[in-house]
Amino acid sequence: MTVRVRFAPSPTGSLHVGNALTAVANRRFADERGGVLVLRIDDTDPARVVEGGEEAILEDLAWLGVAFDEGPVRQSERGELYAEAATRALESGGAVRDEDGAVRLGQTTLLRADGSTTYQLASVVDDLDLAITHVIRGSDHRPNHELHRRIARAVGGELPEVIHHGLVLGEDGKKLSKRHGHSSIAELREEGLPAGAVRAYLDELGLPEHDVHLDLARLRRLAIDAISAMSDEELAAAAGAPVEAAPALRGARSLVEAREYARLVLSPEPAELPDDAGPTLERFVELRGGAPERLTTDEARAIVRELKAVGGDLRALRLALTGAATGPELAAILAALSRDEALVRAARA
Ligand code: GLU
Repeated sequence: MTVRVRFAPSPTGSLHVGNALTAVANRRFADERGGVLVLRIDDTDPARVVEGGEEAILEDLAWLGVAFDEGPVRQSERGELYAEAATRALESGGAVRDEDGAVRLGQTTLLRADGSTTYQLASVVDDLDLAITHVIRGSDHRPNHELHRRIARAVGGELPEVIHHGLVLGEDGKKLSKRHGHSSIAELREEGLPAGAVRAYLDELGLPEHDVHLDLARLRRLAIDAISAMSDEELAAAAGAPVEAAPALRGARSLVEAREYARLVLSPEPAELPDDAGPTLERFVELRGGAPERLTTDEARAIVRELKAVGGDLRALRLALTGAATGPELAAILAALSRDEALVRAARA
């Protein structure tokens, strides 16, 4: 039997880290078993439908490298299926119709008075209809499990196997929310964490049995690893810089920092130099002028060493070349700038 799993977010916007963990875990579960992942959009509850929410989720999944094999299947387009299931539940499953027209199974509403479907019914009907073999979701849904089993029987089916995983909580142990920052995939992306680092972090968490605390220090470590694993081309592209600038981007700890380094190297702001910067810059012009058009990092380091040996003001040189007092390693800046560009900047300063 082919393993079929589903990831079923409500379209509320960019995925929370915990939801992204569910997506990654479902993808991995399917991949390890030659199975299929269905993307289902749970949009029956108007309060949980946000304009652009589905697009944001699709963007997050693409960014994380989580592909799906079927879908998106939207619950809002499957009302007929749910109505049929409700009829079965009324005929032979022990459901009752209220005076106002709502259909209930015990305390639980399956269809509202206006005929719209609740998440409880829609989720169960879809898991049966889409032939889902394993439901993998956060443990916040554990309380639904028994109820879903009863609904499945009422509509004439058996619930698939259900696996609940621990939630990702904030570093303070509370439910992740906007207040924490770093809580959604969009926020992590904007912070400059490479997709590979976030994906590696979620893969590392796997299917946690108990709740875990978001470990930002670990994420940042993985970001540094992911950046050092990138080729010059990848890193430059991620920072929006030409590949020649790559040496200066190497030490960046995030892609936001890499973009900032790229800006320093590509379009520096003019800076105020100390009065006695002259001799350092003159010596630099001599050394750089006598070296090749492009420097290896070793050649660049040799120039920095010589300048230092004669008591050169390295901070002044950095200011002259980048307009800023801090940034990438000085040798990396030299390796990223052509000879002409470096000499022009030194002369202008
Ligand atoms: N739409 C539900 C959620 O986002 C899905 C729960 C489930 O996987 O059944 O929490």
